[in-house]
Formats: sequence, structure tokens, C-alpha cells
Amino acid sequence: MVIRTIAEVPEPKVGRGFVPTMGALHEGHLSLIRKAREENEEVVVSIFVNPTQFGPNEDFARYPRQLEKDVDMAVEAGADWFFAPEPSEMYPRRSTSVHVPEVTERFEGERRPGHFDGVATIVLKLFNIVKPTIAYFGRKDLQQCLVIRRMVLDLNVPVELRFCETIRETDGLAKSSRNMYLSEEERKVAPTLYRELSRLRDEKILDEKALELSRSRIRDAGFELDYLDVVDLDTMQAKTGETTDQAIVVAAKIGKTRLIDNVLLNR
Ligand code: AMP
Repeated sequence: MVIRTIAEVPEPKVGRGFVPTMGALHEGHLSLIRKAREENEEVVVSIFVNPTQFGPNEDFARYPRQLEKDVDMAVEAGADWFFAPEPSEMYPRRSTSVHVPEVTERFEGERRPGHFDGVATIVLKLFNIVKPTIAYFGRKDLQQCLVIRRMVLDLNVPVELRFCETIRETDGLAKSSRNMYLSEEERKVAPTLYRELSRLRDEKILDEKALELSRSRIRDAGFELDYLDVVDLDTMQAKTGETTDQAIVVAAKIGKTRLIDNVLLNR
């Protein structure tokens, strides 16, 4: 069942798991749906390409849209019903917007001005409409997880959050709806990002020299590198101390396609 309007969304009667997506579903999304199926009596998936999280020169217009196929795949993975509104249903007028401070300042927030305001606002709206017990997000979008965690904490949003592992192709490339944009040649070099992240993680030498070597390898493979850095997971700032949870984050463009990835560091 696909619900198109807010008024038709049923009140939850049992534990409701919720997986917000922009559609063009792949194994990454399906893993979240399967996890939600394990932990909840009801599983809801939203499919909404949210205009407010795209910059003016980004891929909103060409973002892949394939509702029927998505519904079939998600039902197979355990979804009960879908919320797939039109932009006019979600934004009938200029909207109030949610701004999460600090964790949005660097990396994706810095490169994509307004992106996380768009994300936080749509996620809060979806939470208020769907009223989930537990909501599921992928660690592939690590900074997004931190932004949502901070919003839920700061605004006392009554929802439990689960951040799930990144699902990858066999060569390590993180699954993404945007991988569809890659040419055959670009697809071949795309796994360089994860290869460098895992090498840094496994070698455990994370000084500036090691990072610089990985940066040049990524550039040499044909990427335009945005950033490759070690970050503190509490603040999403460049590494501050040895004791906190950390990750290595990367964003780089190959041709017209911008890819992001990360690995967590367990110390
Ligand atoms: P999107 O449709 O790109 O907005 O993604 C919807 C949700 O799926 C987000 O929580 C993403 O982090 C998650 N997701 C996307 N790709 C992956 C992946 N490769 N592995 C796990 N989760 C993912």
C-alpha cells in the first residue's frame, strides 16, 4: 500500500519501525528494512526525494525515481506500507526549518550549504507524520546519523534510533543510488575510496603523512578529492583526542558523481 497524503497515514497501534529513503532502493536500504522487520511488528518505508536537501547545482532533477520497482523490492524485504508524498504535500508553503549546530559545521555541511537543514527538517517532519517507535539509518551517511542523533536529543523527539552498517559491493564500493551515474570506467576506479579507507584503518598509522599518501592515491586514480580526514564522532570535527570514538571520512568526485564513504576506528 502506498500512501500519498499526510491525512491518510494511520496512527501506530503496534511497534512501528521506520526506514526513511529517497528511493532507488538497493541492498543498503533493504538491509535497513530487514533489520526493522526483525525488531518491529510493523515496518514503514518512506520514499521521498527531498528537494530542500539538494543544492542548486546538485542532482535533484536527475535523481533516479522508480517507485513501482522500489515497492516490490521493499515488500520482499519486509515492508508493510509506504509513505510517498509529492513535494507539494510536504512543503505547501515556505517551511520552518531545523538547524542542528556544531556537527553540521564541517565536511558535508561545509561543502553542501543548507543540506543538513534540509535533512533535519524532513526527518523531523517524517517522524511527526509516521510516529515510529524505532527509525533506521545507514552509517554510510555517517554525518547524517550524527545530525539526526543530535536533533533527537536536543528536541526531545520520542523515537529510538538505529545506525546500521554500510552494505558494499564485492569490491568494497559502498552501495549508493548515485552509483548508477558512474560510467564503466568510473565504476572501475570507484573502489579506490574504500581501499584507501581500509588500508588506513588496518595500518593504524593515521598521521598526516599517511593521510596525504591516501589523498594523492585517490587523486591519481582520477578523483577530485573534497576531503579525507580523521574525525571525532562526538563533534564531527577533525580529530581532537586519542580517547574518543573516531572515523575516517572521505568525499570525492569522479566525473560528475560525488561519492562519500567512511570507516569507523575502534580504539
Ligand atoms: P537515501 O535513499 O540515500 O537517502 O538513503 C536512505 C537510507 O539508507 C539512509 O539512512 C542511508 O544512510 C541508508 N543507506 C544508503 N546506502 C547505504 C548502504 N550502502 N549501506 C547501508 N545503508 C545505506
